[in-house]
Amino acid sequence: MQADLIIVGAGMVGSTLALALEGCGLDIVVLDAGPLTLGPFDARGAFEPRVSALSAASQRILQRVGAWPGIAARRASPYTDMRVWDGSGTGQIHFCAAAVHAEVLGHIVENRVVQDALLEALQARGTVELIADARLDQLRESADGWLLTLADGRQLHAPLVVAADGANSAVRRLAGCETREWDYLHHAIVTSVRCAEPHRRTAWQRFTDDGPLAFLPLEREGGQHWCSIVWSATEGEAERLMALDDEAFRAALGRAFEQRLGEVLEVDPRLCIPLRQRHAKRYVRPGLALIGDAAHTIHPLAGQGVNLGLLDAAVLAEVLGAALQRGEQPGDVRVLSRFERRRMPHNLAMMAAMEGFERLFQADPLPLRWLRNAGLKGIEALPEMKALFVRQALGLSGDLPELARA
Ligand SMILES: Cc1cc2nc3c(=O)[nH]c(=O)nc-3n(C[C@H](O)[C@H](O)[C@H](O)COP(=O)(O)OP(=O)(O)OC[C@H]3O[C@@H](n4cnc5c(N)ncnc54)[C@H](O)[C@@H]3O)c2cc1C
Repeated sequence: MQADLIIVGAGMVGSTLALALEGCGLDIVVLDAGPLTLGPFDARGAFEPRVSALSAASQRILQRVGAWPGIAARRASPYTDMRVWDGSGTGQIHFCAAAVHAEVLGHIVENRVVQDALLEALQARGTVELIADARLDQLRESADGWLLTLADGRQLHAPLVVAADGANSAVRRLAGCETREWDYLHHAIVTSVRCAEPHRRTAWQRFTDDGPLAFLPLEREGGQHWCSIVWSATEGEAERLMALDDEAFRAALGRAFEQRLGEVLEVDPRLCIPLRQRHAKRYVRPGLALIGDAAHTIHPLAGQGVNLGLLDAAVLAEVLGAALQRGEQPGDVRVLSRFERRRMPHNLAMMAAMEGFERLFQADPLPLRWLRNAGLKGIEALPEMKALFVRQALGLSGDLPELARA
């Protein structure tokens, strides 16, 4: 099979790119190892353990590619405030949307909801070819592009391939793209919990001695005070927490969270995910681009991974669209480099900030503890500085693609 562009991976980022490129004139194939089927959704049912805090910029992108109505029709939980504090000190900080005249800071959405809404939009348009159960197994560079061989032996060829196949990207590995990687020696435990008190549409984050613990507000028909938690801990501690029965886990979680939302009354099944930060040294080669987690995986501490990935997709679509209008070859490395130049500095800056935060909050020496408490208090006392952080969290600063602009 021959196409102009093959997107490997129909996750949140790959599917968004396919939708954003609609109407650009390219013959596009999107393939994914998964079944790409829409499941029934029950808005009163249990939450999926994997969720994302989507920024205002991401919401705009998803709106413009036609996926936001499908998300809103299923389930999205807005949050208006964010409270961050140091569990071993007195420093704390409170951000709110009202401070920058915004209605919300963002939405907590189950990954499956985003995925299904995107898939639904792709299927409704019918303009790109979706190939399910298609695991990429081999990749070979040819004179005029790339030859892809799937695990079942099928072959596809295109002058341009985009890797959107996630953190363990097969495209990145098979094409020999180098990465810088650093292991946090931390794991994240994720699940949904019901608390005794309302979350007040606030995203809460406590920095514990072991790592950050986040409670993200969830809403579902029928009320009740549900939150999605991301509890980052050392490998040994995560193993211990995973081995606890539900009652002991609820008690440990309540203590670690200082019972800010009262007792933890119920807990869904837990997932444990190893955390690793990874960054590709280059995002592009002739006829090849890496986007989303295939290009960079970042600590979930600030909930930015997919927000960065959606910006990658929007910028790449913009760069390719402009190149096609000028009659340039979309796979030309000079064209693809425009995408890299716009996205790499932003992604690196976010990763460096997260790395700095992680180290500062893991640090035990007294001067560093003092510094982080003084830092949190200092920012709390500076409304201008806080507004800057909020704009950053909304994803509304920096070089935004057209799809993310107001
Ligand atoms: C604990 C945790 C919490 C997080 N919280 C947030 C948050 O609050 N906000 C946020 O912005 N981000 C968050 N993230 C990050 C976010 O989940 C990722 O950035 C996002 O899922 C990446 O999307 P993607 O489409 O690039 O990759 P993926 O979602 O991994 O999708 C990759 C797709 O490629 C397919 N694929 C893989 N290999 C192959 C192959 N060989 N052949 C064909 N197809 C293949 C897969 O089936 C999949 O559909 C969090 C991450 C973690 C670990």
